[in-house]
Amino acid sequence: KHVVIGGGTGFIGKQLIKSLNLAGVSCTCISRMPGPNRISWNDLEHHGLPENTSAVINLAGQNILDPMQRWSPGFKQNVRNSRVKTTKALADSIQNTKATVFATISGVAYYKPDDTVYTEESKCESYDFLSRLCHDWEEAAKLPEDSNIRQVTIRSGVVLGREGGMIKSIYFPFLAGLGGPLGNGNQYMPWIHITDLVCMFIFALTNNNVHGILNGVAPQLVTNKEFTKAFAAALKRFAIIPVPSFFLKMLLNEERAKIMLEGQKVVPKHVTELGFQYQYPDIENACKQLVKSHTM
Ligand code: NDP
Repeated sequence: KHVVIGGGTGFIGKQLIKSLNLAGVSCTCISRMPGPNRISWNDLEHHGLPENTSAVINLAGQNILDPMQRWSPGFKQNVRNSRVKTTKALADSIQNTKATVFATISGVAYYKPDDTVYTEESKCESYDFLSRLCHDWEEAAKLPEDSNIRQVTIRSGVVLGREGGMIKSIYFPFLAGLGGPLGNGNQYMPWIHITDLVCMFIFALTNNNVHGILNGVAPQLVTNKEFTKAFAAALKRFAIIPVPSFFLKMLLNEERAKIMLEGQKVVPKHVTELGFQYQYPDIENACKQLVKSHTM
């Protein structure tokens, strides 16, 4: 077994490769930087996927919330191309291989934040930059109807893990007792523990009956305020200093701050029906694990 992972050098990719390696599966990353067990996007374009590829995953994507990057048209183009074009390049290349599965990621920004409880079956039109991005990202992953390759897309919520993403940014402020809800904290925050997301990718690779969209979220719906409380409690700190929405909008631009200030109610109907078991279905235990893995 050999899995090729676009963007496998990132927060999610590293954890996924660790788990695959432990299961005896070798991996190649597609990266912009050279290194061992890596090929470049240019190599992919000119030479295709390695001959022994049995599955392909795409996790590439320019970090949207990088506060050092201005939310300019050029940066937005990067955010888009790094997801849609890499996914399309892999969807095209995989057809010339003996690989049997193609798994990609997308985001819950696919759904419009309102009172609806969304499942994978909910019909949703794109309505802003981020939802359009998610729609196009998922569209780019689609394979021709007559393809024998199984295709899965995990529509992920905020991924909670010590090594990257949101937790890495808020860990020390929260540890210093400077944490607090974002805006009024009443927005829903679809989330998933990194261990569960990695297991969901492996579940998708190994079960032949899994295909289509999986909402990559924990079964417990929480608001940002509830998450803040659980995380602060796990750290044994108070988290009462809210981050005002005007500040986030100023720092990140309104369009981008929406990721944090608005949220959707998303449930993992499909993956639950398929029998996937979560290790961290509730926010209290997920947060306890995040804190424990740091102090050990
Ligand atoms: P990271 O930023 O940690 O890693 C993403 C990888 O993408 C990087 O290692 C990098 O690889 C590659 N990349 C970055 N910019 C570009 C670019 N301009 N062109 C091509 N490749 C690029 O992200 P995560 O691991 O956290 O997330 C992976 C994917 O999952 C992303 O697409 C993200 O949007 C999505 N996602 C993440 C969530 C989260 O909470 N973390 C939630 C929902 C979706 P290299 O430098 O080696 O080229």
